[in-house]
Amino acid sequence: MPVDFHTHTARCGHAGGETRAYVEAALRAGLSEIAITDHLFLYDRPADRRDPRFAMREEELPGYVDEVRSLRDEFAGRIEVRLGIEADYFEGHEGTLGEILGRYDWDVVLGSVHWVDGDWVDFSAERMESGDPAALWGEYWRLLEKACATGLFDVMTHFDLPKKFGHHPPAELADARERAVLAAAAADLAVEVSSAGLRKPVGEIYPGPELLRLLVHYGVPLTLSSDAHAPAEVGWGYDRLRRALALAGVERVAGFSKRRRHLRLLGDPGEEANSPLEPPLL
Ligand code: ZN
Ligand code: FE
Ligand code: FE
Ligand code: ZN
Repeated sequence: MPVDFHTHTARCGHAGGETRAYVEAALRAGLSEIAITDHLFLYDRPADRRDPRFAMREEELPGYVDEVRSLRDEFAGRIEVRLGIEADYFEGHEGTLGEILGRYDWDVVLGSVHWVDGDWVDFSAERMESGDPAALWGEYWRLLEKACATGLFDVMTHFDLPKKFGHHPPAELADARERAVLAAAAADLAVEVSSAGLRKPVGEIYPGPELLRLLVHYGVPLTLSSDAHAPAEVGWGYDRLRRALALAGVERVAGFSKRRRHLRLLGDPGEEANSPLEPPLL
């Protein structure tokens, strides 16, 4: 009875659809739990420098929380709707994030490293193509390791995100990658297995097969996610995720309530209907 622990709302400026439609899509897909985890406002910079294409505005946070709570009540008994948030890790701003997270009773807090060396690592292929991919990857692994150790997050998202445009992690940085995995294990947090990478130029699940084996080897709990930015993407690609997990010998995935982790058996494949052959266009 799987879960989708990473979905967005129209507030973030690059997702579409009614939030209720995400929950309805999860119901149709036969999921047991859906976490709504929209992008937290960009708390590391002054309000007038927060690009509205990347995250909700600060003043939208209370309305967001209210909407997810009311959906949770409305759908009670049919599907568990979890109150989540996807928070960027901004090095040096850990205290601010801790203060913001303390304002609400989250079910789950996702930690994401999108901001690497002063810019987004996943916005375009340009940085990898015109810069030094090994340096960017090295800085990414360092930040990811540090983010894991903050204790601020329950789940780390898209663990090998910089591969998005097809630039795979350099083999010579295997140690840095392993340190990030060890930090996740030490922090007792979960890592998502996400179909989002299948919809991107890299065409591969986050994390890739080798990294997934490493996470399993160190006993890191895993959760499932689509990173849906449209209702049609909820539970999308789960047949592929199930196959990857079966190959890695994983039988249980994590869900969260009030920031406490529980495990669910993966169950039979073919339960979810919401996996069209082609990714929906957005
Ligand atoms: Zn997004
Ligand atoms: Fe993200
Ligand atoms: Fe996301
Ligand atoms: Zn994301």
